[in-house]
Amino acid sequence: MSLTTVHTVADLRATVANWRAEGLRVALVPTMGALHDGHISLTHLAREHADRVIVSIFVNPTQFAPNEDFGAYPRTLPADQKLLGDAGVELCFAPSVEEMYPDGFATKVSVDGAMTNVLCGAARPGHFDGVAQVVTKLLLQALPDCAIFGQKDYQQLMVIRRFSADLNIPVEIIGAKILREDDGLAMSSRNRYLTPDERAIAPTLNKVLGDITAKAARGAELGPLLAKGREDILSAGFDPIDYLEVRDAETLELISDTVTKPARIFVAARLGKARLIDNHAIEPA
Ligand code: AMP
Repeated sequence: MSLTTVHTVADLRATVANWRAEGLRVALVPTMGALHDGHISLTHLAREHADRVIVSIFVNPTQFAPNEDFGAYPRTLPADQKLLGDAGVELCFAPSVEEMYPDGFATKVSVDGAMTNVLCGAARPGHFDGVAQVVTKLLLQALPDCAIFGQKDYQQLMVIRRFSADLNIPVEIIGAKILREDDGLAMSSRNRYLTPDERAIAPTLNKVLGDITAKAARGAELGPLLAKGREDILSAGFDPIDYLEVRDAETLELISDTVTKPARIFVAARLGKARLIDNHAIEPA
């Protein structure tokens, strides 16, 4: 089966209805396009869970603040379609802003709670409301059996798990591991913003997270480790650091002394035009 692209909810639903009539399982991989191998790895995981894979491509305006990069965000649909076709994806759903938010649209989705209001929730007010709004719509439009989200956006994955459960959305949410470049930089559509010099600096984030993770897993005090990590990130050329924090892997509660349960270290920092985020799992030895 070759890739089909649809632009309307009606066409998406008609395709899914045909698959359902054949008794097939359906997976959805929501993206904002400018696809890279990290996104493609999500489609491979989707394939392990379903007979038919849908990738949505939509740069969602409601999750960007006015001062953020909504206008500049790369839009590369023809190249994305080529990658999806090569990966064996059956359906690309690429709606317009008007299709998603037609005239008269008046509904907000608001997420709350300790997991939402920290990290990117604190640094980007309203961001997760926009994510929840668009992901809720995408899940209800496609009504897949499962949907795949990357741990690259670990907090987003946790917030999506939370509101899907809270709203009883009957879709299994599956997390996928982070895909990295050979030098350790987490793949991201926003890496395209980096100049060659910045691209050479960018793997510092992964290196700092890796160093702290190794020591924290052996029980080292986090205070001095994080202070040194901040220094290394700033002196590499990142500015500012939005956060460099260790949190409980399940609740996202802050851990400030030592790691004694599964945790996660999170970073967000700006490098030139790009705001990069990354995270590592810390499993106490
Ligand atoms: P985005 O297009 O950036 O909104 O990302 C779409 C999905 O791909 C999200 O679930 C991301 O977490 C996931 N993703 C982005 N980058 C990576 C990566 N390097 N490895 C794994 N998943 C990723």
